Order: sequence, then C-alpha cells, then structure tokens
Amino acid sequence: MFVDGCFWHRCPLHATAPTTNGAWWERKLNANVARDRETDAWLTALGWSVLRFWEHEDMEHAAALIAHEVASRRSTGTV
Ligand SMILES: [Zn+2]
Repeated sequence: MFVDGCFWHRCPLHATAPTTNGAWWERKLNANVARDRETDAWLTALGWSVLRFWEHEDMEHAAALIAHEVASRRSTGTV
C-alpha cells in the first residue's frame, strides 16, 4: 500500500506545475510517476497486490479497501 503525495506523484486533481525551474520539475515529477508504474509492475509480477491511494483520499475508506483486499487474498489462499 502506498499513499502518494498529490504534488510528488501528479494527482490528476491537485497536481501543480512549478514555474521556477519548470523543465527540471517536469522531468523530476515525470520520473516519479514512471518509477511508480515500474514499482507497481515489479510488485505485481512478484504476486503482491499493489494498492495506491492519493493523500487527499479518505484514509478510512483506504483502510476498508485494504482490509477487503487482505480478506479476498486470504479466501483464495494467496496470502
Ligand atoms: Zn490529490
């Protein structure tokens, strides 16, 4: 489970683009997102369930989704 910061991981609702050193920030933030996708792919390939939440999301709801995923994997014997 990851909680992604809205700025650092380019939330579709809250991402901002700094104007100072804009090109540097563009590369930095794009690299963060690309690394997120690579991490997701690696973990999924290893059999992990990858759950990502934005920092703006309701964490009680996130916790419920995590509990649901754990229960689901237990019932299928994948945990
Ligand atoms: Zn956000």
